[in-house]
Amino acid sequence: MPETSVHVVLLEKSPHPTEMTATAARTCYSANAPDAIMQRWHAKPDDMVQTVDRVRSAGHHSTLEHNIYVFGVTGISRAATHQLVRHRHLQFDQQSQRYLAFKGSDFAYVKPRRLSSLPELSARFDELMAQIGETYRALLNAGIAGEDARFVLPNAAASQMVVSGNARAWYEFLTLRTCNMAQWEIREMAFQVLRILKKQDPILFKDAGATCVRGYCNEPNGPECPRYVAVVKAQMDGARKAAEWIAAHGKEPGGGRSNGETPITQ
Ligand SMILES: Cc1cc2nc3c(=O)[nH]c(=O)nc-3n(C[C@H](O)[C@H](O)[C@H](O)COP(=O)(O)OP(=O)(O)OC[C@H]3O[C@@H](n4cnc5c(N)ncnc54)[C@H](O)[C@@H]3O)c2cc1C
Repeated sequence: MPETSVHVVLLEKSPHPTEMTATAARTCYSANAPDAIMQRWHAKPDDMVQTVDRVRSAGHHSTLEHNIYVFGVTGISRAATHQLVRHRHLQFDQQSQRYLAFKGSDFAYVKPRRLSSLPELSARFDELMAQIGETYRALLNAGIAGEDARFVLPNAAASQMVVSGNARAWYEFLTLRTCNMAQWEIREMAFQVLRILKKQDPILFKDAGATCVRGYCNEPNGPECPRYVAVVKAQMDGARKAAEWIAAHGKEPGGGRSNGETPITQ
């Protein structure tokens, strides 16, 4: 019986996502028409990057929504797809267990990698999958419809999906599901999505990921998470270096308040 694991591929995406987001942002403040704004970015790439950086970090994320990304996901367990479909701003089509009858006892399944350190239990897991497959096939052979025979299939049964969403929805998904608190399989899927999006559109997805990537953590166990600890350490190193610089030079880098801004006092 085939064991499998999650695999994500990008099927389709909006053609010019970074330009599109910059255009949406600039349209809010410009007298120019959106098509004129869209056409000018190739001549002003730095302006485009700054515009996108500004709206992304300011949280004006409606400007991300004009870009769609469609992924194919295979080898993912029903346990993980159940979590995935909770993301209400993503759209899904999933392989049916009603209309697709698996051949023989050959339904593919996902086995948690942790079991590899427990060979005896791992073997029992495989045996159970085989037994389930046999019962499933026996039910089908007895004329029971696929929609009823599937009741014996486990959470481990593999599935496949087409999942689409706009850049904002993917951002939200990545925030929750690349976090160390997320379950390992959906986290693995989320990291595959993250790698693809960062490669495709690095400016748009520059700080995508768990909140620690953006310097904070809302999880109560945050202080125990190695990723968050690394972020805090880096922030502390940065603050210490700045303090040392101020002590050595007797003033703030760049002349402190020379630009006339009100000092930050809290
Ligand atoms: C680590 C972890 C553990 C989890 N454990 C459990 C669990 O034990 N049990 C369980 O049932 N679920 C659990 N979940 C799933 C979780 O509760 C959410 O259903 C899932 O993460 C989707 O997130 P969401 O609802 O924030 O966002 P989405 O559905 O992706 O929506 C994105 C954002 O849109 C806004 N939004 C969407 N719909 C509405 C609405 N109707 N009204 C107002 N605002 C809206 C919200 O700001 C929301 O954050 C867990 C998730 C994680 C990451």
